[in-house]
Amino acid sequence: MDIAILADAVERGERRAVARAITLVESARPEHRVQATELLETLARTGREAIRIGLSGTPGVGKSTFIESFGLMLVAQGLRVAVLAVDPSSKRTGGSILGDKTRMERLSRSPDAFIRPSPSQSHLGGVARRTREAVALCEAAGFDVVLIETVGVGQSETVVAELSDVFLLLLAPAGGDELQGVKRGIMEAADIILVNKADGDLKATAMRTCADYAGALRLLRRRPQDPDGFPKAMTVSALEISGLDRAWAEIRDLVDWRRAQGHWHARRAEQARHWFEEEVRQTLLAQLAQPKARSLMQSLSEQVADGQLTASRAAQDLFASLWPEMEQTKLPE
Ligand code: GDP
Repeated sequence: MDIAILADAVERGERRAVARAITLVESARPEHRVQATELLETLARTGREAIRIGLSGTPGVGKSTFIESFGLMLVAQGLRVAVLAVDPSSKRTGGSILGDKTRMERLSRSPDAFIRPSPSQSHLGGVARRTREAVALCEAAGFDVVLIETVGVGQSETVVAELSDVFLLLLAPAGGDELQGVKRGIMEAADIILVNKADGDLKATAMRTCADYAGALRLLRRRPQDPDGFPKAMTVSALEISGLDRAWAEIRDLVDWRRAQGHWHARRAEQARHWFEEEVRQTLLAQLAQPKARSLMQSLSEQVADGQLTASRAAQDLFASLWPEMEQTKLPE
């Protein structure tokens, strides 16, 4: 594969090239990793930046309906929109959250939209890296907005929060006890809570729910990266397409403010640092999964089980043999 040609096509915003490039970064084969790294380095020169919007919500809350309506609204404003998913559970459930072709059908037909399902992998670290690289490819391809969707399971929200500039939490109208169910960490990561389905019979409940969350948000410690009034809660109806323009206006205001204050750049720099460290961790884990390390670990672990070696001696022996040039590892205190 000619990486320079692929890079040019991605840069021109050709969707098929973007899809091929994402397939390349999703591959775990060593030769593909080399090409993927080269491609990403080449494209980093474009310096293009999209607004990365993370979106989290439990199944059934209306994420796909929201993305379809919101995406079509942005496209109608002349913007190009990419949609990616982080779903580490996709292997277990036998289909990724974006895998179903009927989801976001109208948006997927728009020439200004690009929709990509989550890579089918059960390991969150792998999905996270691939999604991060897919985001970079979409930015280089000139998309104005990249939506990163996740279901509210496990640590996937944390990953999406680390990938996005603005983090949206989609909630359903519900009674007061539902409020307790939202994990505090996710509330704290949210920039805007959107209470969806504020239509018909559900409208009054949605407004009450929204007021409850607005109250809960006011109790959170004010974050330096927030202007007055943020984080905030709003009601929307993805189905009736109401409140979406207001949500977009709030997102843009937030982005403009953070850009002007330097928080935008600082956050991206911090995220880059985070992903570098994460990459190092993943690489180390991958090293341990190699045949040589695995067989060594196997025999050492038998000796530990037999009482011939202590666990700490065995671990030291393992690392001394895998990375002889490394100094004795100092354990965290
Ligand atoms: P997801 O699992 O989070 O992607 O949720 P979906 O977008 O598939 O929506 C789940 C159900 O909620 C579907 O039956 C939608 O039609 C419905 N739904 C989504 N948004 C709204 C809304 O704004 N109002 C109402 N009344 N129903 C909605």
